[in-house]
Amino acid sequence: MSDAPEIATSSLAGRLSCFRIDGMVALITGGASGIGFATASLFAEAGASVFILDRDAAAAERAATEIGGGTRARTLDVADEAAIVRVFSRIDAEAGGIDILVNNAGTAIRRPAVEQTIEEWNQVLAVNMTGAFLAARTAARHMLARRRAGAIVSTASIMGLSGGGLYPNISYQSTKGAVINMTRALAVEWAKHGIRVNAVAPTYVRTQFIAPLLAQPELVAAIERMTPLGRMAEPEEVAAAILFLASPAAGMITGHTLPVDGGFLAQ
Ligand code: NAD
Repeated sequence: MSDAPEIATSSLAGRLSCFRIDGMVALITGGASGIGFATASLFAEAGASVFILDRDAAAAERAATEIGGGTRARTLDVADEAAIVRVFSRIDAEAGGIDILVNNAGTAIRRPAVEQTIEEWNQVLAVNMTGAFLAARTAARHMLARRRAGAIVSTASIMGLSGGGLYPNISYQSTKGAVINMTRALAVEWAKHGIRVNAVAPTYVRTQFIAPLLAQPELVAAIERMTPLGRMAEPEEVAAAILFLASPAAGMITGHTLPVDGGFLAQ
């Protein structure tokens, strides 16, 4: 039988500290904005050494400066395998390892399926699916090389668990569904190494990602009507779920996707 985890043996105060990630090195893709930014700031407050990885270099620098506390910015396009290998390797050497990856960079090209071109389809797959895999694979290589437990949390979507929504979004829905099953498969494959892999599935979140939708009050009202809790999510609410899954408090949770959806999928 393996040793009991710290959360089962420590005092009440110790059990509460399992929600913190003090001293852990955390990489957050798409960390310059929205959910990624909310996660980066919460992680920094929870004690982590945070690296914001984003293809928008200027926004990443601004975000790191705003968060402060040693948060660092690196330019990275998750569709670029060589760049992922290079950037992760440098961070591993500089920070002495990688403990947490938040696979959060994402993109969407919303169009009726019959109008979606192969170029658009491939562009969405390259970021949301292949990019998420390459980042997870590369982070795990570093964790394994250092015989280090770790946690990976991906930002999927309710659109990975539903074919519905307000508009046709075939490539996005396909990739987010893939991320959810990739989460299961990687969790099973890496469990023996102590690497946990989970995902969150947010509903519509108030970020620039859905700016065209936010600009149409009738669509916002439609989402509110479709959601049992009667509102959209805020990025901070998704970040809270990501922190939980990344933290030792979720030490017995792997292979799962946690909807942050105000009850959307419960209907
Ligand atoms: P956002 O636009 O505020 O932030 C996305 C960030 O990712 C930006 O900083 C952008 O520069 C970066 N990015 C985009 N492509 C990248 C790439 N190839 N490499 C590196 N960085 C890249 O959007 P957000 O709403 O915070 O989205 C974050 C994640 O949440 C995405 O995966 C998205 O699919 C998912 N999500 C969003 C919603 C929503 O309604 N906003 C709902 C469910 C899931």
